[in-house]
Amino acid sequence: MVKSDIEIAQATDIFQIGEIAQRLGIEEDALEHYGKYKATVDYSALHNTTGKDGKLILVTAINPTPAGEGKTTTSVGLGDALQKIGKKTAIALREPSLGPVFGIKGGAAGGGYAQVIPMEDINLHFTGDIHAIGAANNLVAAMIDNHIYQGNELNIDPRRVTWRRAIDMNDRQLRSIISGIGARTNGMPREDGFDITVASEIMAVLCLSSSMAEMKGKLKDCLIGYTFDNEPVRLGELNAQGAVAALLKDALKPNLVQTLEHTPVFIHGGPFANIAHGCNSLLATKMALAHADYVVTEAGFGADLGAEKFIDIKCRMGGIKPDAVVIVATIRALKMHGGVKKTDLAEENTEALRKGMPNLLKHIENIQGTFSLPAIVAINAFPGDTQEELDVLKKAIEDTGSKVVQSNVWAEGGEGGIELAEEVVKLTESESTLSYAYELSDPIEEKVEKIVQSVYGGEGTEWTKKARTMARRLEKLGYGDLPICMAKTQYSLSDNATALGRPTGFKVNIRDLTVSAGAGFIVVLTGNIMRMPGLPKVPSAVQVDVNDEGKISGLF
Ligand code: ADP
Ligand code: MG
Repeated sequence: MVKSDIEIAQATDIFQIGEIAQRLGIEEDALEHYGKYKATVDYSALHNTTGKDGKLILVTAINPTPAGEGKTTTSVGLGDALQKIGKKTAIALREPSLGPVFGIKGGAAGGGYAQVIPMEDINLHFTGDIHAIGAANNLVAAMIDNHIYQGNELNIDPRRVTWRRAIDMNDRQLRSIISGIGARTNGMPREDGFDITVASEIMAVLCLSSSMAEMKGKLKDCLIGYTFDNEPVRLGELNAQGAVAALLKDALKPNLVQTLEHTPVFIHGGPFANIAHGCNSLLATKMALAHADYVVTEAGFGADLGAEKFIDIKCRMGGIKPDAVVIVATIRALKMHGGVKKTDLAEENTEALRKGMPNLLKHIENIQGTFSLPAIVAINAFPGDTQEELDVLKKAIEDTGSKVVQSNVWAEGGEGGIELAEEVVKLTESESTLSYAYELSDPIEEKVEKIVQSVYGGEGTEWTKKARTMARRLEKLGYGDLPICMAKTQYSLSDNATALGRPTGFKVNIRDLTVSAGAGFIVVLTGNIMRMPGLPKVPSAVQVDVNDEGKISGLF
């Protein structure tokens, strides 16, 4: 019988976390232990370096399909393979949120023999970061409503409070609520609502700050709403930044755990990949780079969203740059891009595979062309792939002059990723100068236009009047030079989720803009983006259980 992820994870020897830290030369003194197998690493460890940073390897993918791609699995397996060939390696990943864990997607700690442990902890409360972020967010919410209740000196329009409450759960019931009802002493009644915590701006702020001082500065700048005169009100005007930062003191410290093969992994921060930038914290990436020679990290969704934002937002803000990019593709997903239904994926179909391949080719072009970075394709092999299909895909990629390697890390762990690791090491030796999809000084419309044309391969953009007005307004408010955070469907290169493969000739509809002034980006909304997801009819939660000894089952 094939073992489930949690069964594999629970059957593995786990090392004390101090031993894992030692592999990176991180002193015991810098660790704050959360039990035996988890620790946070103090900010001071950021500076314990030889002055020379490691190589950064970004793992990204084709546009996701319901067939699954395996970015986290590949990141973990590649990290283990690098360790196996003797490289001092660390991995940096996002923290899972309870919403997806109990909803459809399940956990986010890799799969098969390429996992991060203790996976139950990582997928559930971990070291409490997400709860702390929720509390910090809700402190601000409470202070806003209290300010209004206590006389409203700032003249905040209760109808235009943009700061929402947060909880780390998929709970559609809380999406839109009326709060403050019942009595005069219960506050000012107003329309209100909850976002899932990982969609809160506090999460994005924490992830894009390289120090406590920087985080406090960003917190101050967060927009919380507008006055009756339509002037923006910032978190700093409530003097909330100190208390919020205090609540986030421990959450700002990167968490250290290990893979099944004991490679050190920083798991820290988990912002949404649509209305936010979708990758782990800058601090975790920098901490990893300071201590390892090779750092593997993942960006959410496909490369059109994940890698683009990783580069244009996170790298630009943090002064870092990938030395190589791994693009994960699967035969199954490419067949779906070629028109095969999910239920027919088990059948060999090289014709559909060929038809779906242009999706992958576009992402390769983007990484090598738009961003000028060295790229390699990792075919994440699934049990049902046929040799014929693997050969066809490999040959097609090689014909374009690009590098491709098959990865078997899900079935074999690090051993199954050795060829990939060796090729990646070679790739990081090549000289490259990162280029961005747009310049920060470009006008807002031009930045968006450049992303659509060069990264998505579209013809251009179509703006609603509301979006154009907002662009002018944001420029007037001094936000014109911020980077762009595209909120678009992850399933297609276009803004139409059903346009699979490599669509052409399309225009992207720009519906509205908002600003995450603290985090430091302009969010461009191309469709209806959910900040508070709901649960499916049969949520994953119904399979989860815990026995009398406290052993958890049913997480995957
Ligand atoms: P992503 O990070 O791209 O969302 P994950 O690595 O989390 O993807 O993988 C998604 C799911 O697919 C997980 O349940 C994982 O166990 C499974 N998976 C990944 N790679 C393989 C593979 N090669 N064979 C079978 N299942 C896989
Ligand atoms: Mg992932």
